[in-house]
Amino acid sequence: FPCEVIRNFSIIAHIDHGKSTLADRWASKQTLTGTIQMKSTGINQQVLDKLKVERERGITVKAQTASMIHMAHGKQHLLNLIDTPGHVDFAWEVSRSLAACQGALLLVDASQGVQAQSISVFHIAKERGLKIIPVLTKIDLPASQPERMAAQLQSTFGIDPSEILHISAKTGQGVDSVLRAIVDRIPPPSGNINSPLKAFMFDSLYDRYRGVISLVSIQDGIIQKGDRIASCHTRKKYEITEVGVMHPEEVTTSSLQPGQVGYIACNMKESSEAHIGDTLHRVGVPVDPMPGFQPSKAMVYAGVFPVDSNDFIKLEESIKRLTLTDRSVTIQRESSTALGQGCRLGFLGTLHMDVFRQRLEDEYDANIIITAPTVPYKVVYKDKTVMVSNPTEFPDTSDTSSKVNQVQEPIVNASIIVPEEYMGEMMSLCFAHRAENLDHRYLDSGSTSEASARAILTCTLPLSEIVTDFFDQLKSRSSGYASFDYEDGGYKASDLAKMVFLLNGKPVDALALIVHRSAQHEVGRKWVKKLHKVIPRQLFEVPIQAAVGKKIIARETLSAMRADVTAGLYGGHYERKMKHLENQKESKRKMKRIGSVDLPQDAFFEILSTK
Ligand code: GDP
Ligand code: MG
Repeated sequence: FPCEVIRNFSIIAHIDHGKSTLADRWASKQTLTGTIQMKSTGINQQVLDKLKVERERGITVKAQTASMIHMAHGKQHLLNLIDTPGHVDFAWEVSRSLAACQGALLLVDASQGVQAQSISVFHIAKERGLKIIPVLTKIDLPASQPERMAAQLQSTFGIDPSEILHISAKTGQGVDSVLRAIVDRIPPPSGNINSPLKAFMFDSLYDRYRGVISLVSIQDGIIQKGDRIASCHTRKKYEITEVGVMHPEEVTTSSLQPGQVGYIACNMKESSEAHIGDTLHRVGVPVDPMPGFQPSKAMVYAGVFPVDSNDFIKLEESIKRLTLTDRSVTIQRESSTALGQGCRLGFLGTLHMDVFRQRLEDEYDANIIITAPTVPYKVVYKDKTVMVSNPTEFPDTSDTSSKVNQVQEPIVNASIIVPEEYMGEMMSLCFAHRAENLDHRYLDSGSTSEASARAILTCTLPLSEIVTDFFDQLKSRSSGYASFDYEDGGYKASDLAKMVFLLNGKPVDALALIVHRSAQHEVGRKWVKKLHKVIPRQLFEVPIQAAVGKKIIARETLSAMRADVTAGLYGGHYERKMKHLENQKESKRKMKRIGSVDLPQDAFFEILSTK
């Protein structure tokens, strides 16, 4: 396939707007015409979403690629779909996949309209100079309003309504017109087959047998089995053992040429050698590297501990394996007096964290406790600035001798799209989460009939305010209509303090939190109440306290219980009595001792897993 018949594109779409359905349509057509040999694994297989968690949640986490062959103007064209995740947490993966594309489909559900996530990804695509093809899908739905949504696309993105395609991936209507538009509107990649090899690495996978598999987009030259290549970044040399394309399963080919997107296997053993954004060249024929990527930035940190402390080695091994397929997670060891040995992991966002947790449980059968998420703070001292992403390392800011000049927290520029009647509710939600610079405007004026106008609200919010239950509240307070997205907004000075929880006067390290002082009493009371509910009574009275610095903010007292738990049971209740003793024995095994207080591991699980 020469350059001029290749098109590299991706699909920008909000979750559930029909990206996978459209991709599956194309793929099934390909199988029917026999052009591509695909592994057939049933009718409902979603071509792009390979992970179990992706299929269950209907989201794309890991960018995938799929190639298709399409006849147009009497010629076979090779269309490479480079999938992008549709969620804000994965903006890094998005820009990485877009770097290998010349165009993108902006896919919008004609019954739902533009959502916040589409806007941010659209801007990334625009900035990269990609040709955008607007597509309204699901026009078969009675609730679809293609004219109104076309007007929305015009006012939101400045798109000319005459460029918009109207399709239904379900009935198949217009699905081919999209392929034609890809061929006609998106420019082919440029590149010269006679120039020295220049390959851009935009992703890597790990295969137990072949080692690291890199996904590359060929800029110039040609790459074949047996070639000797080198990395611009590490200067390491490798011999190519296999090249091919993703169809969407791997299909070996004899070579990869300019404009093609595919995979290479070389004798690369460690995934740390594969640098996303690296440029590869032929040994002895150096080239100028392509502008690389910023490394991904972890925005949410949490401690992950095994429920059974004996499982630590196994857990760490599972985490390491999982990060081979998800390079954006950072790992450090962490130990806690309450929870034992564990790992502190950094994630791109809370959805990313949830997904990682689920993958650990699904794919590695891990039984874990995960601590409350913390964002990375900057603690400014007179002569240095320290990043702190673990509450236990946070200094006591109320202690004047601590030499801390200032504490800064990450903030985000947030946008929320809602029908106008929810605007007031959304504003109060934002204000309750320390919003500033609040502003809003209308995206359209609604339709003549029942549908109300849509408005976009923008503001800045501390990142820490949206990593807890913000998203759930947003959804419930807008009856599910609001969509939300955010971008990095830098750092800002803030009045923050470390809150510690004491059981019988002893701090429980795994529960420490960083709070804004304006909320310290509320947060303290809430957590102390929760602990009181979850912690089993002991043989003696146990004070449960929340402290900031030396000051006690909130307190509950756990009253003592009688020594014999079976004392209240009598006579014919033998079975119940036995069961009770059995339970007691069972939970004894998993007890953690904090000072003189016995805490079952389950209690931690309950404290940390309920929001
Ligand atoms: P994704 O999250 O963007 O990948 O969305 P999916 O492809 O998983 O689609 C979300 C839902 O919309 C599924 O229930 C699909 O069956 C449905 N859907 C997708 N395309 C169409 C369409 O053109 N018409 C109708 N009526 N439903 C569709
Ligand atoms: Mg999908």
